[in-house]
Amino acid sequence: MDNNFDLVIFGGTGDLALRKLYPALFMADCDGRLHREGRIIAAARQTLDDSAFRTRVSEALSRFIPSMVTSAGEARVAAFLSRITYLALDATNVEQYRALKASLNERDSQTVFYLSVGPSLFPAIVGGLKAADLNTPDTRIVLEKPLGRDLVSSREINDLVLGAFAESQVYRIDHYLGKETVQNLLALRFGNTLLEPLWNRSWVRDVQITIAEAVGVETRGEFYDSTGAFRDMVQNHLLNLLCITAMEPPSSLDPDAVRDEKLQVLRSLKPWTRESLRENLVRGQYRAGLLRGEQVPAYTSEQGVAAGSATETYVALRTEVGNWRWAGVPFYLRTGKRMAERRAELVINFNPPPHSIFEGVLAPNRLVITLQPEESVRLYTMAKAPGDGMRLREVFLDLDFHEFFRERRQDAYERLLLDVLRGNATLFMRRDEADAAWRWCQPVLDFWAAEGGTPIGYAAGSWGPPASSRLTAVGGTAWHEELQL
Ligand code: NAD
Repeated sequence: MDNNFDLVIFGGTGDLALRKLYPALFMADCDGRLHREGRIIAAARQTLDDSAFRTRVSEALSRFIPSMVTSAGEARVAAFLSRITYLALDATNVEQYRALKASLNERDSQTVFYLSVGPSLFPAIVGGLKAADLNTPDTRIVLEKPLGRDLVSSREINDLVLGAFAESQVYRIDHYLGKETVQNLLALRFGNTLLEPLWNRSWVRDVQITIAEAVGVETRGEFYDSTGAFRDMVQNHLLNLLCITAMEPPSSLDPDAVRDEKLQVLRSLKPWTRESLRENLVRGQYRAGLLRGEQVPAYTSEQGVAAGSATETYVALRTEVGNWRWAGVPFYLRTGKRMAERRAELVINFNPPPHSIFEGVLAPNRLVITLQPEESVRLYTMAKAPGDGMRLREVFLDLDFHEFFRERRQDAYERLLLDVLRGNATLFMRRDEADAAWRWCQPVLDFWAAEGGTPIGYAAGSWGPPASSRLTAVGGTAWHEELQL
């Protein structure tokens, strides 16, 4: 059984909390992973009593994890809800942190503050916690993205938080790192000898990392329009996935051993030059189009988006990790909204066979790790098709572990929340990592700001602008879905 805890969720009535955090905590509770007396305190601006708020959480559980709720039964839901209390708190009113402190006193438990609010509230919350002496060394603080919108503002946020908390108390969350298949990539690479000898420039032709969304900006048009795909996805999720793929074997799973290796990757990313910014970056924005047979509007017609907005909803880029292992291997990253389908995947394309003794084309082997919509790991190989002659066809070895493991897979937020409660920071970004990621990203933002212009249009429901196919074609390859044609 884990330690007793008080988890305070600032922004506890928000979308993220209702959609992800309470469902994740409920699932952990059903599995007996939460301490019997662990408490959840939702702090937000609205005036609500415990009972009204618990009804809201109950509705959210039924909406977002209906089958878990049905199989757990009413008694389990009621037991989970009884852990939750609601505290009406205006985060900008420093006086109100006393009430929070009063509710936390007299318990021998781990206190965690989860900032599920926009970063504009971080100064007020960190200041309020400090003023009320709630930043004691045994507390932890969890920060949600976005942690700034450029190098300068991210440094300001980190300076602010580290003015009140030590780095070891700070958990910068990136839920992609909590996914089971990302853990499995670590297991595949470092728990086996099969892949690691091939995991380098001699055998890998290119690496592709995609986070494609079918949705548009939904209700968050205003936020997205001031953010864009690069800040929203590349600076954090895509770079973290790249680090896990490219890093050297760490000496242990100790948080700093892993994060030191990730940091080395970020520091080895090829610095941008004027020329590479022009050649290796594609910026797109979706126009109206057909998505699964349904007509959807252009980005600039979405609610909250400025008319004539030049915000990118799509980015594709080519980079390199400049070290002995990876020199010369292109790493392609891309993300977009209103793409043909929702898919997040890592693709490792291996070199083609140097000589073929068979008829037809031999597709190079590739390892495909899918994170969304379903998690899977597949190794594509050539095999003999049944019948006469030696005709080869591409098949895949399914390394999907459903068959072997009957246990329920943990949700990413569930794993990460449990890690915070246990004090395991391996899957959270350290300040120097966040800094290195922004340092590499800043020239891109500066380049676009200086260039002006507008992103290239692409039809909603497509795989992005044709220029992104040219990006891979120049490197002698094609995006994964194009290879499958
Ligand atoms: P939201 O707008 O739905 O919720 C904001 C919450 O903050 C509400 O509970 C509101 O009551 C509270 N709040 C606002 N002003 C307050 C104040 N002065 N005092 C106390 N509480 C106040 O936002 P969200 O979608 O839940 O996102 C929260 C943060 O998490 C944002 O920074 C967002 O970018 C980030 N995030 C959200 C998602 C998501 O899927 N929604 C995913 C990743 C990161």
